[in-house]
Amino acid sequence: MERSLREKVIDLLKEKEMSVTEICRELDLDPERAKEVYGVIKTLPKILKRKGLQVVMLPPKCMNCGFEFENPKPSKCPKCRGERISEARFKIV
Ligand SMILES: [Zn+2]
Repeated sequence: MERSLREKVIDLLKEKEMSVTEICRELDLDPERAKEVYGVIKTLPKILKRKGLQVVMLPPKCMNCGFEFENPKPSKCPKCRGERISEARFKIV
């Protein structure tokens, strides 16, 4: 039986911290499905709570000034207006 996308994402994030782009690459998903993967990650805290696990987000950072974002998908740095922003990474602990 084919495992669901959610189960695959959980398995990956249990092993190591990953960004959505890396998850897509690892699972051989079209980059256009990144949104779907984000959606899955959003549902994880509720599901994992029952198992005593949680999802940790390592925040995106501005590559210009180092500003750390709380929003997982920022477009611009509020401090320096930089647009080179590292991707948020996620991990299950
Ligand atoms: Zn900045």
